[in-house]
Amino acid sequence: MEERKEWLKEPPSHVLQQSLKDADRAYKNFFEKRAGFPQPKRKGKGDSFRYPDSKQFEIDQDNSRIKLPKLGWIRYRNSRDISGTAKNITVSQSGGKWFASIQTEREVEQPVSTATSAVGIDMGVVRFATMSDGSFIEPLDSFKKHERRLAKYQRRMCRKVKFSKNWHKARRKVQKIHTRIANARKDFLHKETTTISKNHAMVAIEDLQVSNMSKSSKGSAEEPGKNIAAKSGLNKAILDQGWFEFRRQLEYKLNWRGAILIPVPAHYTSQTCPACGFVAKENRQTQAKFVCVDCGHEENADVVGARNILARGYRVAACGEDGSGFARKRKTKPASVKQEPTEVTRREVTHV
Ligand SMILES: [Zn+2]
Repeated sequence: MEERKEWLKEPPSHVLQQSLKDADRAYKNFFEKRAGFPQPKRKGKGDSFRYPDSKQFEIDQDNSRIKLPKLGWIRYRNSRDISGTAKNITVSQSGGKWFASIQTEREVEQPVSTATSAVGIDMGVVRFATMSDGSFIEPLDSFKKHERRLAKYQRRMCRKVKFSKNWHKARRKVQKIHTRIANARKDFLHKETTTISKNHAMVAIEDLQVSNMSKSSKGSAEEPGKNIAAKSGLNKAILDQGWFEFRRQLEYKLNWRGAILIPVPAHYTSQTCPACGFVAKENRQTQAKFVCVDCGHEENADVVGARNILARGYRVAACGEDGSGFARKRKTKPASVKQEPTEVTRREVTHV
């Protein structure tokens, strides 16, 4: 081996192989148009490596320590007990701290949801989520709250000489704020999705394409940059609140409990009268107020959206319809909202 590649001998060979595998997957995803062009990795940014073989590591839970090849025994602070057989370990760095995530496998019984109710959820900016039963979740806006502080430290970082001691100090501060934002958001989303998945056997949610919405602010060829300000404001709010993450967590938590998540098309959900089925733009008078111009039904506009989403969810669950169909049609309800989960075994990722 040439001398300049000498450092390749330092890490364990499996870890290097895993990095090659990751790079291979990144290029495949790019060529098959599932992802953008792979970005080069840089020291200090998204640092992580994986031990794919359980023969290489040892976990001593009683003494909160873990043995990794070439690193030896390392103590850790436990976030939760490890149950099942450890399959692999990913070590990563975030906000100046190192984390070991242990993926385990175990047999679990087929879950059957103990809840019997169904709910529709309307996602929004003013209210993070509104339920068809009228309750709602306030927005988190974790980013907005920390935005000014973040900007202040980012400016401070810019003024320092790059890679100097003070620059590193300022950078750590910026990282810390980012971590705090991310943690607050994660905590918020976990609490909310846990509550919802415990209480309902079926959850209908609008099938929002968040990534498309984020792109649309740039406008199209025909209408360059229409509504840029309004859209980018909305996009920022969406990204800040983590709608995608909310939906992802909701889905796997519902599956764990034997309940189901049903995505439904979102068009006209806020303009359709839940009482008589009349669809009109004029039904929604303001952001918050819905008044049917046909029958006079009055309700909070977000609750109307959530009720329509639930109705569509029932249609999808009952007849496999795409749920978009229609207004003024009689609503059909399924006899039962429970669905047999198909998977018997599932994997659980335990973070330590
Ligand atoms: Zn009406």
